[in-house]
Amino acid sequence: MDDNDELAALGAMIREHLLWEAASGHTRLPIHVAQAVPGVHASTNAPLGSNAEEARVETSPVSAGPRAPASPPVLRSPPVLRAPPVLRAPPVLRAPPVLRAPPVLRAPQGPAPDVEASAIEASAIARPTPAERTAPHAGSPGASSRLDATTWPVADRERALQVLADDAARCTACRLHEGRTKTVFARGSSTAQVAFVGEAPGFHEDAEGVPFVGESGALLDRMVGAMGLGPDEIYICNVVKCRPPENRTPLPDEAAACAPFLARQLEIVAPSMIVALGRSAAESLGCAEPGRSWRGAWGQWRGIPVMPTYHPAYVLRTPEMKRPVWEDLQQVLVKLGRSLPSRKT
Ligand code: SF4
Repeated sequence: MDDNDELAALGAMIREHLLWEAASGHTRLPIHVAQAVPGVHASTNAPLGSNAEEARVETSPVSAGPRAPASPPVLRSPPVLRAPPVLRAPPVLRAPPVLRAPPVLRAPQGPAPDVEASAIEASAIARPTPAERTAPHAGSPGASSRLDATTWPVADRERALQVLADDAARCTACRLHEGRTKTVFARGSSTAQVAFVGEAPGFHEDAEGVPFVGESGALLDRMVGAMGLGPDEIYICNVVKCRPPENRTPLPDEAAACAPFLARQLEIVAPSMIVALGRSAAESLGCAEPGRSWRGAWGQWRGIPVMPTYHPAYVLRTPEMKRPVWEDLQQVLVKLGRSLPSRKT
């Protein structure tokens, strides 16, 4: 065997060995040597990106003969994936509250008010309060803080009465306002000597807004004329200022609701005498007790003498009651110091 044959045999052996190693994945030959052998493909376990010249493939010793199968590659557990950090929302920054400056209290400007004039003004327009409107009746002790209008000029009295009348026209304190056409406040003089207080407006009064018109009013006017009283000496009004349905008697709560208006009227006019026309009016003034005789018996309302007598409407239906009524009116005249007229109604 010459050198060439020997070299070829050696190459064959090396190739066979390399094929075996390549099959098993191991070689220690430099890659460029292994690749130089025809038919041999060295496996490269070199890390990616490493220098090819320096990369070496592991191989078992050449003399080791057949090798045991390589142990399976150690499987590395996958990297633990950590949950991404929870991103917290940034805290909401609230705007600080706006602090308002307290209102500046200014001292009153101009000259000091006329105290005396203001007192008259305040008294003149004193009106019933809601509490007063629920008072039991006009004669109850706490129904109203009493006004002393006896020294008021006529103009102040009339102005105060007009303010009250305007209030009554807007009043809705009781159910009677629902059916009224007009409120019926009063007629007569603000400086009257005698006040006549009836029960409630009727059909004609509701239509005209004036108390005691129609037949009852005509009879009352005749009675007043027979007493010798002039128009400037009388004041005529009712317990309630709105007409009850079907001309019925006012219910106690209706009379109580309207009592402050009556009380203020009488306080402003400040008559010397009051004539209560009918039982309802007498009760509202505190001068009649249920179940007891009431007509012709003197009573009082806040120091003012009250004579209760029959209502003109009742006298119209019961003519024989004219005499007792006339006797009651004569008592009023006597108390007033007037001379008795020679004739009756
Ligand atoms: S009757 Fe008197 S209390 Fe009743 S609504 Fe008329 S004004 Fe007001």
